Amino acid sequence: MTQKTIEFYNGNTIPALGLGTFRVDNSDECKEAVKHAIISGYRHIDTAKVYENEEMVGQGIKEGLAEAGLNREDLFITTKLWMSDYGRESVQAAYEASLQRLGLDYVDLYLIHWPGIDSALIVETWKAMEALYNEGKVKNIGVSNFNVNHLEDLLKATSIKPVINQIECHPYMTQTELRSYLKAQNIVAQSWSPLMNGQILEDEVVKEIANELGKTPAQVIIRWNVDEEIVVIPKSVTPSRIEENLNVFDFELSENQLARLNDLNKDERIGPDPAEFSGQ
Ligand code: NDP
Repeated sequence: MTQKTIEFYNGNTIPALGLGTFRVDNSDECKEAVKHAIISGYRHIDTAKVYENEEMVGQGIKEGLAEAGLNREDLFITTKLWMSDYGRESVQAAYEASLQRLGLDYVDLYLIHWPGIDSALIVETWKAMEALYNEGKVKNIGVSNFNVNHLEDLLKATSIKPVINQIECHPYMTQTELRSYLKAQNIVAQSWSPLMNGQILEDEVVKEIANELGKTPAQVIIRWNVDEEIVVIPKSVTPSRIEENLNVFDFELSENQLARLNDLNKDERIGPDPAEFSGQ
């Protein structure tokens, strides 16, 4: 199975599909999910300090690499800086603590998790992220949950552009305006909660398209991301679903199917609104 990768403006690449790990306890279940994903062919894992599972994600990476006969460089690992660590002084220590929990000596992508409500603090924080990047400690730096205004404030005041923006995105919340801004800036879009925690899999149009293709609703939604050039990180701890979610590279959605999915947009979120979220 040939998977797809997407290129950042800096020339590095990211696998278009990865495993999400939000709301997975720091337990054997987490380790086994990550390990199963790697053995099944995933090359990209997404975690965050605030998920409190970096240790077991790291353990799953270690065991998965050994069992699959792969090297660290074969994987793309993302973690995120939590809001309690924002500010010039705390970023480096927060990054090193994440690495220690993961048992890694670098991650491929470090993200500012939320923009918060203090844009001066974000600029300071980003400058510390730039330092990590310039010192070669992290391969890529990016943001998450940034709206256009957050990005504009950042780009005006800093020198390195984020490579990616990880945002809530699915056919009920297509983020058309934000995605066209990202495209114009050459910043890759990445979707979180792509399956709406399962909710969108019950949609009649999604089910109809799945029937047309002989695929599952989850595969249709994941393929929508791939066809729209959005990096996607569905979460599952169920081995059969982990495999199912990766099995999307042997078909494409037609123009008509893509249009029907895009028509489902109703700007409906399941997560917090970045314009208001302050971490509380
Ligand atoms: P998803 O939209 O990926 O949905 C996960 C849910 O769908 C789980 O309950 C899972 O069940 C179920 N599921 C997975 N695959 C299938 C399938 N094939 N058929 C039916 N049900 C399925 O939710 P998340 O909120 O976890 O988002 C994905 C990832 O995005 C996160 O894990 C995290 O890494 C990232 N994220 C980032 C955020 C940010 O602020 N940057 C915010 C939220 C998420 P089960 O596990 O039981 O199989």
